Amino acid sequence: MNHDTICALATANGIGAIGIIRISGEQSFEIVNKIFQGKNLEKADSHTIHYGFIVDGKIQDLVTDNQQPTTDNQETIDEVMVSVFRAPKTFTAEDSVEISFHGSPHIAKKILEVLIKNGARMAKAGEFTMRAFMNGRIDLSQAESIADLIASENESSRKVALNQLKGGITNEISFLRTDLLNFVSLVELELDFAEEDVEFADRSALNQLLDKIETKLDSLIESFQYGNAIKNGTAVAIIGKPNAGKSTLLNALLKEERAIVSNIAGTTRDTIEEILHIKGHAFRLIDTAGLRDTVDEIEAIGVKKAKEKVENANILVYLADAATEDFSEDIEMIKSLMRDDLKLIICATKIDEVSPATYEKVENIFRSEISDDFDFIKISAVENQNIQDLKNELSSYVEQLKSQENNVVITNQRHFEALGKSLDAVSKVKEAIVTQISTELLAYELRNALEHLGEISGEVTNDEVLGNIFSKFCIGK
Ligand code: GDP
Repeated sequence: MNHDTICALATANGIGAIGIIRISGEQSFEIVNKIFQGKNLEKADSHTIHYGFIVDGKIQDLVTDNQQPTTDNQETIDEVMVSVFRAPKTFTAEDSVEISFHGSPHIAKKILEVLIKNGARMAKAGEFTMRAFMNGRIDLSQAESIADLIASENESSRKVALNQLKGGITNEISFLRTDLLNFVSLVELELDFAEEDVEFADRSALNQLLDKIETKLDSLIESFQYGNAIKNGTAVAIIGKPNAGKSTLLNALLKEERAIVSNIAGTTRDTIEEILHIKGHAFRLIDTAGLRDTVDEIEAIGVKKAKEKVENANILVYLADAATEDFSEDIEMIKSLMRDDLKLIICATKIDEVSPATYEKVENIFRSEISDDFDFIKISAVENQNIQDLKNELSSYVEQLKSQENNVVITNQRHFEALGKSLDAVSKVKEAIVTQISTELLAYELRNALEHLGEISGEVTNDEVLGNIFSKFCIGK
């Protein structure tokens, strides 16, 4: 149990109308009282908000209501509103205070300084959320979902994170874990009666439960592919010969949402990605450096460069100029780029320049030369023809990853790994039953399975795992 009272800026560090500093711990009211001219917070009801001033310099011994900021030896820092939250119904489950001040980073710094001078200490990264976990208000997967919720940039990631915050994954597995725990107790009881050769734990019922757990784990693990698409976006590479219309298409795709388009600068200009949102899903357009700027595109893109681009992509959008005649290079390029786990969309571009008969012919050429299953879309980026079809095709890729029966989606690598380990452990237990190994070993394997299942919610955890999770949070979370 940590008795320090911690403080940190909870809002983004920058200028805003309002900034919020959060304070949590046993001495929250006592410390803020020393610097707050306004209501005596020790007497304030929970979940109430109070007007006053933050001052530097000791407030007179007796803190009374409605003090005015006039004392000579005090410097008034800001006019604020202070919210009071009494344990246990608070974010951290501890006494907490939030100071809403005029959103200047300088004021934030000054208020934090006086809080520290009066007995608080700066919170470490993720410490507020860690306290919420340590104090049993939320489990570990919920703590992680808070970070995901704050990081969510689109509808799907927001929804999945919120579902997780409500206990999604833990609800899915906790009752199975409880059933398994009952069996462990029975098997361990058998150990106490080892000499009498009794069997308290019905092996066939145990097997049934293990089957149920396996099915659940399988479907959760399967959801990770969709979860990953939600959390990290689906990677799309746009490839084609020079002048195929790549930059024109890119501009057409990004046109409507220029306002929310962001550039994610990678280590070099070569890895610039642009984010496209379609139906709430995020698509990362890989390495679009140069595409926006046609001058850079004079040189032909070599197979090696194209391979690098496609390497981390989920979808390859290959553009072929329908107004040209020879597609042998395109076909060769596509063949050399394809892999089993890459979705291929071939777009015949510039269809406004050719007759329908011509682009039908183009489709036939590709269909006869390329055996891979692919979608063929005829577009004109200049006339905005069928761009929506391409967008639909992209979003349907993500949609079909969504599992039908599972509402809970795994987005977290740690959960994914723990589920995989649980699945291994469960199959070991099943094997142990079949081979009728000793009850001792069976109990060991069962414990192992329980432990991995418990890792997700944090029922079983260690300092290293916790440190790793919370250090990724920013300060103030
Ligand atoms: P990139 O080299 O693959 O990026 O090709 P660009 O997007 O720069 O396009 C090359 C040329 O084709 C430019 O002059 C574009 O205006 C033209 N272009 C691109 N898309 C279309 C289209 O759909 N229809 C027509 N008529 N011209 C297009």
